[in-house]
Amino acid sequence: VKQAVVWRPRPGDLARFPNLEVIVSIGAGIDHVLVDPHLPKDVPIIRTVGDDLTQRMREYVALHVLRHHRDMPRQLQAQAEKDWHAIVVPVAPNRIVGVMGLGNLGAASAKTLSDLGFTTRGWSKSAKTIEGVKTFAGGDELDTFLSGCEILVNLLPLTEVTKGILNADLFAKLTPGACVINCARGGHLVDEDLLSALESGQIKQATLDVFHQEPLPTDHAFWSHSAITVTPHVASQIDAATGGRLIAANLQEFAATGTCPDMADAERGY
Ligand code: NAP
Repeated sequence: VKQAVVWRPRPGDLARFPNLEVIVSIGAGIDHVLVDPHLPKDVPIIRTVGDDLTQRMREYVALHVLRHHRDMPRQLQAQAEKDWHAIVVPVAPNRIVGVMGLGNLGAASAKTLSDLGFTTRGWSKSAKTIEGVKTFAGGDELDTFLSGCEILVNLLPLTEVTKGILNADLFAKLTPGACVINCARGGHLVDEDLLSALESGQIKQATLDVFHQEPLPTDHAFWSHSAITVTPHVASQIDAATGGRLIAANLQEFAATGTCPDMADAERGY
């Protein structure tokens, strides 16, 4: 076996193939491949990204940001009570939304939110320029990025540095009553901290697409929490035909040139 195309390989599985030349992650992240302690270190990893994945994530982010912006959960509750309750919210330019991670998915989602009219901020490791988005970079600028944010979208990769970044400290820096959307990885979120922040009102609503354990265990508090929307890791799930074409094109390019634009960096963690 020279090429392995994997989602969550069992630890030790990839080490069984001594002739392995390349690993393809069926997904934009590579955290689920790097967790294998026996992973052959010098085998390059290609991740799977593309316009299809970006389009799907833009749709998911726009849907859930607008839903929080317009306070749809409260509006639906009013309908359930047959209550003609008009909720008037600020217009989008008066709402600050922040996107953590400005890679393929984060940058496109931030641009979409800006096009919708939101006052949009973005945060990444290195400095970026995105039309219509005020950008911040590095740990030093994180607090300024968070301050005033009313809706926060997480699109960071899961690394040793970003693990648990959605925690009580971070929630406290957002505007009280902020909403959080996690569509990156479950490991970014400290579950108990979110539950406490919802309890105190520091966070008003959360949309979660990813979880520490997937499928989310049926006894997990998130399932039945009235302020949490759970989706089953579908924010940007590529269909088999499109994914297959993307992977085949990357493998062809890698075979011909020894590289391709979607190479991940195992050292960096994404
Ligand atoms: P990407 O292109 O690798 O971009 C990652 C971004 O995060 C970059 O802007 C990077 O900054 C920034 N970053 C990394 N470490 C950071 C740190 N310590 N501090 C600040 N910024 C940091 O990733 P992507 O393709 O946009 O995907 C993002 C993540 O989305 C994936 O890793 C995956 O976990 C998740 N995802 C979820 C779904 C779903 O269906 N829920 C689908 C696909 C992907 P630099 O640009 O400066 O390096």
